Amino acid sequence: MHAEIIAIGDELTSGQRLDTNSRWLSQQLGDLGIQTARHTTIGDSLSDNVEALQRAVARAEVVVCTGGLGPTLDDLTRQAMADAFQLPLELDQESLDKIVAMFASRNREMPENNRVQAMFPRGSQIVPNPHGSAPGIDLQVAAPQQARTGESPGNVNRSCRVFALPGVPAEMRQMWLETVAPRLELLLGSQLGRLHYHAVKVFGIGESDVEVKLPQLIARQRTPTVGITVSRATITLRVAGRATDAATFQHQIAPTLGEIESALGDLVFGAGDDELEHVVARNLKQQGRTLACVEVGAASWISDWLLKVDEPQCRCFAGGVAFPNRSAAERWLEREPAAESKTITSGCGEMENASETLEDERWTAIARLAAERFGAELALVVGVYPSVKEMECTNGTFDFVFALATSTTVHLERRAMGGHPDVLGPRVAKTGLDIVRRYLANEGLTRNGLANNGQ
Ligand code: ATP
Repeated sequence: MHAEIIAIGDELTSGQRLDTNSRWLSQQLGDLGIQTARHTTIGDSLSDNVEALQRAVARAEVVVCTGGLGPTLDDLTRQAMADAFQLPLELDQESLDKIVAMFASRNREMPENNRVQAMFPRGSQIVPNPHGSAPGIDLQVAAPQQARTGESPGNVNRSCRVFALPGVPAEMRQMWLETVAPRLELLLGSQLGRLHYHAVKVFGIGESDVEVKLPQLIARQRTPTVGITVSRATITLRVAGRATDAATFQHQIAPTLGEIESALGDLVFGAGDDELEHVVARNLKQQGRTLACVEVGAASWISDWLLKVDEPQCRCFAGGVAFPNRSAAERWLEREPAAESKTITSGCGEMENASETLEDERWTAIARLAAERFGAELALVVGVYPSVKEMECTNGTFDFVFALATSTTVHLERRAMGGHPDVLGPRVAKTGLDIVRRYLANEGLTRNGLANNGQ
């Protein structure tokens, strides 16, 4: 069963408002096991609405529209449904009474143009709207057969269920959850089972390399399906399948999860909504350890993330410090009598090249100092994040330093990385967190290419 979503409103097509309804509805349909094949966004034009509805019912078994159910002249959805399916609009007295009563409860008389909100295409069921004046429409229509590409034509007497809901996101969601979703579940029947998902989180490898390592798993016709998405350098493998309950689903996907784990090994860091900071915080907590962090350059991603995930009662994040540039980090080091006092050669200035690095000894000293100052067992130093301007100017690769001080040693690693300005900073920060994750998981830093600089 496939669905299409039609979002209606000039405010959407003009770019004034983002269409969040379609995204939410796709997820809800997916949870019911209905795949959304298409989103259409159209303005307040009757002919465009009619055409979009006719095309959608020819392709899909479920069509959900949002917007255009208000009382004003530019609210055209009910008229578009009537025209598209050649059905007269009829007054529903019960709905009209409710609208009148709603206005009365607000000490207002119902304006005459709100009457149109009680008009429905003949044969519709009503979708109650507990918090607004516009009830929704639920209409089953006969639909011409039009097979999707690659599918053989099926039942020629097919029908399509069309729902029209208000655009106001809160009203639309409540009406979906209370009325539309239960009706669709009834339509689907319980034997099909719902669509379940399991997300495997991966870091340290590119999207295309994952596909190379897992060619059979990513194949589209496979069951369960495995989808791949990437967000700020974190890869998510979304394993999906139909099952009557969660335990059956877990049983079904176990071989697929096994294949993923054996192909990707410790590149897999978590599941579900996990990000690296959640895993690091969890492991620190389990091991009763604390971490401090020094970030140098135009960002402080790691401290920010850890502050958000660290539970107040846990306090596995001992604290962090951010320096805008290399010279500020050096001054911090030099003020400390305990710190090593080698002369640092640097050309510091407003536009200093952020890719220049401190000498290894100085990074090592900063990591040690951070552990000492924050009273943490571990201290991670990451630098130097380039500014967006530098990234845009250079458009190339930067050298980064990662230093992890532990109770016995300091591990130091340099890596050259490049990428889009929106992704490079988070990727560098996640690389730092991944070094901590691997250390905590006792994977062995040297095995993962980290030079041991300890003494
Ligand atoms: P109303 O009874 O309020 O007129 P309606 O069904 O006519 O409801 P619209 O007038 O199209 O809906 O939109 C009402 C509000 O909901 C507006 O603020 C609009 O920006 C917002 N809205 C409409 N469609 C969407 C959408 N697809 N995603 C997010 N917000 C939306």
